[in-house]
Amino acid sequence: MKNIMRILGTVFFLLPFFGLAQKIDADQLLKDIAYLASDELEGRKPVSEGSLKARALFTERFKSLGLTSQFRDYTQYFDFRNRRDGQLYEKAANIVGFVPGEITENLIVIMAHYDHLGRQGDKIFNGADDNASGAAAVLAFAQYFSENRPQHSMMFVALDAEEMGHQGAKALVEDFPFPIEQVILNINMDMISRNDDNELYAAGTYHYPHLKPIISRVAGGRTPILRFGHDEPEMGRDDWTLASDHAQFHLKGIPFIYFGVEDHEDYHKETDTFENIHPEFYINAANLILDIIISLDKELLQ
Ligand SMILES: [Zn+2]
Repeated sequence: MKNIMRILGTVFFLLPFFGLAQKIDADQLLKDIAYLASDELEGRKPVSEGSLKARALFTERFKSLGLTSQFRDYTQYFDFRNRRDGQLYEKAANIVGFVPGEITENLIVIMAHYDHLGRQGDKIFNGADDNASGAAAVLAFAQYFSENRPQHSMMFVALDAEEMGHQGAKALVEDFPFPIEQVILNINMDMISRNDDNELYAAGTYHYPHLKPIISRVAGGRTPILRFGHDEPEMGRDDWTLASDHAQFHLKGIPFIYFGVEDHEDYHKETDTFENIHPEFYINAANLILDIIISLDKELLQ
């Protein structure tokens, strides 16, 4: 905890130097990722005690922001069998908040998985970058759009059980509370808090090229450097089209943009901790993604 306070202290001291017209409450964003990635939440394995604590963060925040939901207590429950250990997981849960649009009922779904690998023996896999980072950004964006009403309706989702085969995303798409064709865009974030080369990827424009000009205009001259790619079939394992939850929307023909970084040395290790994220990269990445969403929301109306 001492470490966290030291890092937070440094970040707030530096904020005026790199925080140009940032819309996100950086203090809250860092507190949320630190909490989700803390030992108290024990790596957020589906249906564990730590997972229930994570769910409570999302439901309580959505409630305090005044978001509505198509699901009772913001919670979409689902069961699945994990292929790897053969175990049945009952009452796994996606947490879903909703902000109605100003102009159209068509939807933008903004999501990130909150689950991670949990514990193995006395080792905790905290999953700070993967994916407390994306999940905390969902909360920050929900706050922004609860105060600045979007043109399209927006659904904010913290997804469960990505690490066990995109189970939360599958459940969301299969039991979607609106005709799925009403979703004009899916934004998925999975690992957005660190990169040694200051690069963030936006994958998906190979499949949905109409999104690219808007994204590149917003990202031009900004930090982190936004790269396109990791979405072409000929890239094999480096094609991220089916690599995270957005795959389930893509398989239904729904345009997606996936924001994420290249794998790093702490990927899926117990060292993926809050202390190892890059706070200024993360804050800048979240602000950049938010500005991209704001522009897509306005410009996809035509
Ligand atoms: Zn992940």
